[in-house]
Amino acid sequence: MSSQEEIWTDLEAFAREHFTTPSFNTWFQQARLQGIDLDQGKIFISVPSDIVKKRWQEELEFKLVEYTYAHLGRDLTPEYLLPNDLKQTTSLTIEQPVPNEPTRNGVQGTPLNENYTFDNFVEGPNNSFAKAGAIAICDNVGSLYNPYIIHGGTGLGKTHLMHAVGHEILQKNPTIRIMNVSCEKFVQDYVTAVRLQKFNKDNEDTANDPMVKFRKQYREVDVLMIDDIQFLENKPETQVEFFYTFEELTAKQCQIIMTSDRPIEKIPQLQDRLLSRFQYGTSCDITLPDIETRIAILQEKCYLKHLVLPNDTIEYIASTIDSNVRELEGALSKLQLYWTTNGEKTITPTIAAKVLQKNTMATTENLSILTIQETVAQFYGVTIKELVGKKRVKKILVPRQVAMYLSRELTDTSLPKIGDAFGGKDHTTVMNACDRIKNYLKTDDKIKQNIQELKNLLLH
Ligand code: ADP
Ligand code: MG
Repeated sequence: MSSQEEIWTDLEAFAREHFTTPSFNTWFQQARLQGIDLDQGKIFISVPSDIVKKRWQEELEFKLVEYTYAHLGRDLTPEYLLPNDLKQTTSLTIEQPVPNEPTRNGVQGTPLNENYTFDNFVEGPNNSFAKAGAIAICDNVGSLYNPYIIHGGTGLGKTHLMHAVGHEILQKNPTIRIMNVSCEKFVQDYVTAVRLQKFNKDNEDTANDPMVKFRKQYREVDVLMIDDIQFLENKPETQVEFFYTFEELTAKQCQIIMTSDRPIEKIPQLQDRLLSRFQYGTSCDITLPDIETRIAILQEKCYLKHLVLPNDTIEYIASTIDSNVRELEGALSKLQLYWTTNGEKTITPTIAAKVLQKNTMATTENLSILTIQETVAQFYGVTIKELVGKKRVKKILVPRQVAMYLSRELTDTSLPKIGDAFGGKDHTTVMNACDRIKNYLKTDDKIKQNIQELKNLLLH
């Protein structure tokens, strides 16, 4: 799939969930992705009417921006083309990475994402080993950690780190040949080569033999980078081919770097000989970033996006979104859209909470900690910042304890996660707050009544 198709597929999935079927047909199905102009920084969408355009701007655009960023590593501005504009527009350049052609930066396969550099990679306790290993490779290509495997959950920076190695190696030696592909692409290329070879059985011309070409492409390189190696699962024939590719490359001391969404031992039906070769190299994992690292990542991303957010808003986002870095980026894209469309008005934590509300719905029904915090804050006349802050004056402390209690009662969220959502507090603080409120419920009629009213508000 090209990046454009991927963006559209993601957006379609979002729209299907977001709209009812008739609305989906009206708002989504009638629009088309017309093209991308990277120079102008624009993504063109054709829409049949102004009403559809408006709806897109209100409900789909933030996702479009987010997915574009995710797939192209660039912030693009959507531009809507109405039927009249379309007639006037001559052909739009539709940019797609050309597979397997050497690209601008000398990389074959998929181009390296230009933002995925070491400079842009924020180090934290969750990734420092993986990063140190990656840096070490750059001065010892093929000879130190080979293969080098980065594993960890989705959206935690594996691909970023692998591309960073690619950039750095090329900077040190621009003539180095790097092949960068997803494992899925390797599998596809292999399957295609096998199929074509069956057709070409009688052809004597070995230079044009599809399998010879395939092998040349993957074996005549200095560095092979394969993303998401878990995709080899249950593909015994491709595994055999990969094994020989691997053998040939390591015999020549070519560097192999791989990523996997789980430890290699956990990839189902990975053949023993591949597993043992992989184990011969070095594996490092990336885990979830802690709150300080999340804050540092948000600061870095704001800087890259030229987005200005106050510190307390950054802290607020970091404490409410703890799943992975991609989610943090999604939140920033949404805030950036709000920021630019509202004349760069300061985004306070309360505004951020509102803008992100749709994003951070809790796993249970429709209630999120954010909604609880907002409702409680409004009810007691305190700010969200105070609610998730550290001040222990009674005026704030009681609402904070109430909000923690309600988060525990009304959502499935664990104590540590609630603690995080309240500015990175310890789970014992949440536990104490819940106990305190339970006592009040027995002894204090006013608080009892407050809680009842809040529950009514939240569960209406
Ligand atoms: P994975 O390959 O693990 O699924 P990616 O490498 O695609 O994740 O990272 C997802 C997004 O998060 C990317 O935009 C990446 O730049 C960003 N990201 C992840 N970790 C970091 C980090 N430590 N510093 C800066 N950005 C990061
Ligand atoms: Mg990845």
